[in-house]
Amino acid sequence: MFVRRSFLLPLVALSLVTAAHAGKLDPDHPPATVLPSETKMGDESVKEFEGDKTTKMLDLKVPANRAMQDKVEAMVKKLGAATTRPGIAYTVKIVDNTDINAFTLPGGHVYVFKGLMDFISSDDELAGVLAHELGHNARLHALRGQSRAKKLSWINLAAMAAMLAGGQNGANVAQFSQLALLGAMNGYGVSLEKEADASAVETMQKAGYNPSALVTFMRRLQIEENHHPDIKLGIFATHPPSDERAEALLSQMKRDGVPFTPNDVKGGAQFTVDEKSDRFAVVMNSLTVLEVAKTDDGKTRAQDAASRLNDLWKSDLKAYEVAVAGDGTLTGRGQTIARPSADDAKLNGVATPALTGQKWSSNFGRLFWRMQLNGKA
Ligand SMILES: [Zn+2]
Repeated sequence: MFVRRSFLLPLVALSLVTAAHAGKLDPDHPPATVLPSETKMGDESVKEFEGDKTTKMLDLKVPANRAMQDKVEAMVKKLGAATTRPGIAYTVKIVDNTDINAFTLPGGHVYVFKGLMDFISSDDELAGVLAHELGHNARLHALRGQSRAKKLSWINLAAMAAMLAGGQNGANVAQFSQLALLGAMNGYGVSLEKEADASAVETMQKAGYNPSALVTFMRRLQIEENHHPDIKLGIFATHPPSDERAEALLSQMKRDGVPFTPNDVKGGAQFTVDEKSDRFAVVMNSLTVLEVAKTDDGKTRAQDAASRLNDLWKSDLKAYEVAVAGDGTLTGRGQTIARPSADDAKLNGVATPALTGQKWSSNFGRLFWRMQLNGKA
């Protein structure tokens, strides 16, 4: 990305900007609307980013893309109204790029990459990422950016101050925009990233999304990083390690009394019933957990099992909570999920209903293993 070219210069400008504003900016009581300096930086950065030949936006003439755009727009609107700066009119665009990436530019410009849209596993996860980006605005990060300024030695700062004091207004604006772009695309450093995470938890709760999804997203990102250390993680490259962020979020949620219910999310994985020629299968994504024979009550038994499982799943069912009784009855946290019949045993190719229950429970073993491995079913 074009950001790397101009690495040193903008950083120096950043510290001058922060110096100029630092006194007035209180992230706990931010202005409800955008400040002129944010608008200026933002407009320039947008021109810079969208003007770059490597930047391509998603083709919204494609109905599926249009639907995706409408979804993120509605979500950003809802989340924006729940932040500490409800007066910001956010715009959100989807970048046609496979990176797992998202960033925001001052003035309310949010960019989400197609790679991230493909990676998220629920609406609440998407809301978590968007709320994090809005958190950068709500906490005035583009204007603050303190953590990066500290890395610079005072000698550099003085030299740069002298240069800029030389009245190069045109150059100043250009460097401000590059600085905003730098901050946005490279991350604001560990402490401000965690601040954006913390702000996201509050915003998600106020907007009716489950903050647990931000934790699951971080955990899955960590698994992705472990599986594909070469993957271009865009904005997340200079962020604190994802699992460290997940732990920080969890302790914040515990402190604030926010329950961690990772499976109670909208648009997340659900148990559903697949009707086949000779059976009804209860599945989650592509994994079959149990199959019942196509008898008169087969469909009802499968649907009952699926809805009981969804209730248990929402309240964070654990692998050790799934058990099989002597007669093969499958239970979750002591509640009956399904009782196998002789017809089910025949269908599953085993001698007794008791063995059918065993077979079902081993399917759950595979489901929890997949959750462990991939962070989702
Ligand atoms: Zn961030």
